[in-house]
Amino acid sequence: MRKNIVAGNWKMNKSFGEAEALICDILDGLDKIEEPLADVVICPPAVYLEMGMDLVRETPVCVGAQNMSQFASGAYTGEISASMLQSMEVQYCLIGHSERRQYFSETDAQLAGKVDIALANQVWPIFCCGEALAEREAGNHFNVVKSQIENSLFHLSPKQFTDIVIAYEPIWAIGTGVTASSDQAQEMHQFIRGFINEKYGKEVADETSILYGGSCNAKNAKELFAKPDIDGGLIGGASLVAEDFLTIIKSF
Ligand code: PEP
Repeated sequence: MRKNIVAGNWKMNKSFGEAEALICDILDGLDKIEEPLADVVICPPAVYLEMGMDLVRETPVCVGAQNMSQFASGAYTGEISASMLQSMEVQYCLIGHSERRQYFSETDAQLAGKVDIALANQVWPIFCCGEALAEREAGNHFNVVKSQIENSLFHLSPKQFTDIVIAYEPIWAIGTGVTASSDQAQEMHQFIRGFINEKYGKEVADETSILYGGSCNAKNAKELFAKPDIDGGLIGGASLVAEDFLTIIKSF
């Protein structure tokens, strides 16, 4: 179902105590917002998921993992399975973040497998896609994003697709302080919604939440979220500071 979502990707940051304090500060801040206009998802490092789940219980805040295995179970040292996430009631998982694609060589085919196993375990994928700077400069950005989505998501049935959240994250904007302009982001979001429409029809396309990520912060979130096809943000650096993250949540 389409909804506004602000998700914080903490990446590999924070000690246990710092993570606990940050979640508490976010929950305190959310308490003071009369009616938040976005669903909030916190994606801490995996070792803090259990603590996060304990803290958000009985609040509207959801917890997401940053990664999970494409395998169901067994001899995969160091991996975390979708069924483990489900057993902890973790609701979301980032899949296909550009850092996973770049540093851990995750392929579209592997990501398709992760999406399948996440959905089979009622873990909602936040599927990340986005082009590199050279691809944009070559005018190839639409093709790159289209093929990432086609290769990893378009095998899904229309019903399955309605459980997918997409995060468009141009790689050149991640962690760089360079944000896509709101017009550039809207143009890509509209394009993504358009080809979901071609594949699955208008109803599914209109119901898909498409988030923007890439140096989204307390200053630029309002302008980005005002665009008709931008349904929120996947926030890296600015999600590590409670005040900034709360300002972003209030930007609708
Ligand atoms: C991200 O890594 O998903 C991200 C959007 O990072 P940042 O906000 O720091 O650019």
